[in-house]
Amino acid sequence: MLKADSITHRYGRDGAQVTVLNDVSIEIPEKSFTAVVGRSGSGKSTLLSVVSSLLKPEQGQLFFRDENITWFSRARIDRLRSEEFSIIFQSHHLLPYLSAHENVLLPYLNRIKPVGREIYERGLKCLERVGLAGLGERLPGELSGGEQQRVAIARALVKSPSVLFADEPCGSLDKATGNEVMSILQSLNKDGLTIVMVTHDPMHAEMASRIIRLEDGKIAREC
Ligand code: ADP
Ligand code: MG
Repeated sequence: MLKADSITHRYGRDGAQVTVLNDVSIEIPEKSFTAVVGRSGSGKSTLLSVVSSLLKPEQGQLFFRDENITWFSRARIDRLRSEEFSIIFQSHHLLPYLSAHENVLLPYLNRIKPVGREIYERGLKCLERVGLAGLGERLPGELSGGEQQRVAIARALVKSPSVLFADEPCGSLDKATGNEVMSILQSLNKDGLTIVMVTHDPMHAEMASRIIRLEDGKIAREC
């Protein structure tokens, strides 16, 4: 479904350049659940940014559904990302003054049109999907850390993406809460969502269907 071919990316310039990704190729099959692991600073977040087309790599090509999207214009990439991709981070990035339900609807709130009934209901369904039925009126500050992250997942689902990217989604949660979030991700994957997740927790990586290990800018192991 997604393919990154010979990706090389460096940060910095001239004398102080660091090669973070060195000729990395990965393939993300449809409906797979891929965990990307590796030491801190090994380039996991950079790889996720490249594969989700947030960051244009210095070298290499990116394919989505067999189409080469490497040279798409920014506008076309933005459209593709908005229709097909969603991303969640370690920090949930919820707006504190909007209710959980409004936060879930955020991807639609930048339109001039008010949100219609169908989208409103879709937001409620997504909250239900992550086990938060009935909590939609709460502000983020009135929810626990795990519940806040689940709102972020619901928001990531509201436009029915085909790929969900997650960068350390359980990184700031305690063990039990992290496991809850992991089982939601697993269940979404079972329902057909393709997931690419960065994690440094070996137990969470084991919950994915495949593991890619980054080391020194290269893929050290794939299993
Ligand atoms: P990871 O997610 O595995 O911890 P990152 O992809 O965030 O690794 O970063 C890999 C390396 O690139 C690190 O050494 C980091 O300091 C560096 N780096 C990341 N982002 C930038 C940036 N925007 N500018 C310069 N260096 C960066
Ligand atoms: Mg990172």
